Amino acid sequence: MKIVRSVSEMISLARTFRAGGRTIGLVPTMGALHDGHLSLLECAQENSDVSVLSVFVNPSQFAPNEDYEKYPRPFEKDCRKAEGAGCDILFSPTVEEMYPPEYMTTVSVSGITEKLCGKSRPNHFVGVATVVLKLLNIVYPHVAVFGQKDAQQAIVIRRMVADLHHPTRIIVAPIVREKDGLAVSSRNSYLTPEERTAAPLIREGLCVVEKLFDEGERSADILISALRERCCLSDLLRLEYAEIVDARSLEPLASVSVPALAAVACRMIKSNTRLIDNAELDPCGVHEI
Ligand code: AMP
Repeated sequence: MKIVRSVSEMISLARTFRAGGRTIGLVPTMGALHDGHLSLLECAQENSDVSVLSVFVNPSQFAPNEDYEKYPRPFEKDCRKAEGAGCDILFSPTVEEMYPPEYMTTVSVSGITEKLCGKSRPNHFVGVATVVLKLLNIVYPHVAVFGQKDAQQAIVIRRMVADLHHPTRIIVAPIVREKDGLAVSSRNSYLTPEERTAAPLIREGLCVVEKLFDEGERSADILISALRERCCLSDLLRLEYAEIVDARSLEPLASVSVPALAAVACRMIKSNTRLIDNAELDPCGVHEI
């Protein structure tokens, strides 16, 4: 595995691959690699000749009060994991390389970025869209793989790529979970032991929603109540939002008559860790009762 630190080196390497007729698959991450990231890498490997995994803790997607400084950066461990998983190139630019002092341009996707996580993280998706477009322009991949775990992010990236006519094909891969259902996340390491025990309530709430939905329940109010009820079983967990939204527009739904997303964000109150999770609800994909 080659470790690339410089943007210009990454650009010229990517050009060489393309000139040689090899397809490139990119997996953007912020590092602290876990099985979720590695599943995206596997997906990129299945869909391209050369896999590039980027590790970059992007300052512009963190608000000043968020965890940018304390975000885990186990770089050596990440290199070993990526190499062990057969990654071809680990691209880890410095902040100065990505955001030189004269930098002035951002990418803003409107509408969908104001829903769900956008309500409490107003500039987050400008940071995400900007860094992802920069990575797509540097690596110029044929495919880029994102996780369903960050469903809103994936929707925003798909929108940006379509709106700006970027040729990269976006693939969204399923959520990887711990045995007890908690979605794997780099931020799970922040949890206290008690919070870690309570955190699977989020997934349990989503499972109740899926079960009710499979049984024919379509009322968003009823589905949301069930989700809230389960998430509120622990005092350690403060619900930020629990919503049923249209899977494309992210507009809240009264009734699930189109593909939808049950989306939840919680704050674990001791460690102040923010956790998100979601479930896809497809009225066309299930047997109506
Ligand atoms: P992050 O490093 O948290 O910015 O995540 C990098 C990519 O990995 C994003 O596309 C995430 O959606 C994806 N990802 C994070 N956690 C998971 C997970 N548990 N399962 C699948 N993909 C994930």
